[in-house]
Amino acid sequence: MGTPIALLLLLAAGYHPLVTSLAPYYNLIYAAPYFLLLTALLLSHLFKSARVGMMVIILLVGYTIILTRLQSPLEQGTTYLEYLLLAVALPINLLYMIIVRDQKLTSRFGVFFFLAIGMEIGWCALLVQQFGELSSYFQQHPILVRAASVSPMPVLLIVLLSILICISTLRLLRKNSIEDHAAFISVLCSTITLVFFNVPFISSLVFSLAGLLLVANQVSFSHQLAFVDGLTEIAGRRALEDELKHLGRRYTLAMLDVDHFKQFNDTYGHEIGDDVLKLVAKQMACCEGGASAFRYGGEEFTLLFKGKTTEHCLPFLDALREDIAHYPLVLRDQSRPHDDKQGRQKRGRASNKKPVNITVSIGYADASQADTPEDVLQLADKALYKAKEAGRNCIKGSA
Ligand code: GH3
Ligand code: MG
Ligand code: MG
Repeated sequence: MGTPIALLLLLAAGYHPLVTSLAPYYNLIYAAPYFLLLTALLLSHLFKSARVGMMVIILLVGYTIILTRLQSPLEQGTTYLEYLLLAVALPINLLYMIIVRDQKLTSRFGVFFFLAIGMEIGWCALLVQQFGELSSYFQQHPILVRAASVSPMPVLLIVLLSILICISTLRLLRKNSIEDHAAFISVLCSTITLVFFNVPFISSLVFSLAGLLLVANQVSFSHQLAFVDGLTEIAGRRALEDELKHLGRRYTLAMLDVDHFKQFNDTYGHEIGDDVLKLVAKQMACCEGGASAFRYGGEEFTLLFKGKTTEHCLPFLDALREDIAHYPLVLRDQSRPHDDKQGRQKRGRASNKKPVNITVSIGYADASQADTPEDVLQLADKALYKAKEAGRNCIKGSA
């Protein structure tokens, strides 16, 4: 959330020198948003984020309207009315995209989306044609006041757009999905453009920034998809492999495996098994002593202590094992009640449930015991088997 705001402030700070140096290349400035937004559209298609793609299309349509209809002075003809219509329609269309279900552009919803955009443009064109005199009416009687030195927009509309920015900010803080990021970027950038519409080149520069941020958003989410484990939200196997390539001469690796997890799944079900994996990952992420936690795969995890020997790590590994073994797991009810009354009764009873515990076994090895990190990891894995053979819920080293 900070990046778009920081870049917008940076743009505002260096706006005049930037515009002065870019002014001779005005064709390039006008074309830049198309290039960047089309790149974002292509990436959203490749990463199958249809709703982000729809937001990009809305921005493309909005920018095209600005270029084709709003380049003459706002006081002229019906320009002011068209400007107000765009200022209302653009953020509302963008925000609508965060509440709809994710569906492909080629689905029935995709067709409906294009039809809706076409109809909105048609309705607005009709309104402008039939009630063009509203343009001068709104200029002479701005609803509430107009701080003309700051913005050509009525204050009431600025307030409405600020509320829409707040909605997208709250949604971003609550959900933090790729669509929420895209909606925040798009609503913020389009609002800033329309509020400060009198500033030269504002639409091209701010829409270019929106395109750039949307491209970065797609790239960073695809990186997250590859490096962060979807279930436990800690780093995944790929991130571990990457880390292993950049290790110094001193480090310790520990392999951790949940004990009798198959039996746990068979007794309580996979969903509760998943909750347990999330809990183990959470405890591992809190492990002290400079440890980084990774999900190796299934119910196996890895801890990496960079720059640390086994003597340093052992107390922290043992504290982690103890913490997991003593954590009281109060299991949620698997059978979902059909109505609210039943649900309340069941939840009441759930508090009487006896908590269960799970344990983990840990094997470790350090850099002095093998030549490559892969070999150290294998030694830690062998030590893990020793811990299993020794009765589980314990820690064994490879030496
Ligand atoms: P041991 O103490 O020897 O490690 O016994 P175990 O039952 O834990 O070992 P085993 O390798 O036989 O079984 C691992 C089980 O982990 C099998 C599989 O059902 C479960 N598992 C692996 N990945 C997941 C997952 O993502 N979610 C859930 N719920 N279970 C998983
Ligand atoms: Mg296992
Ligand atoms: Mg296991």
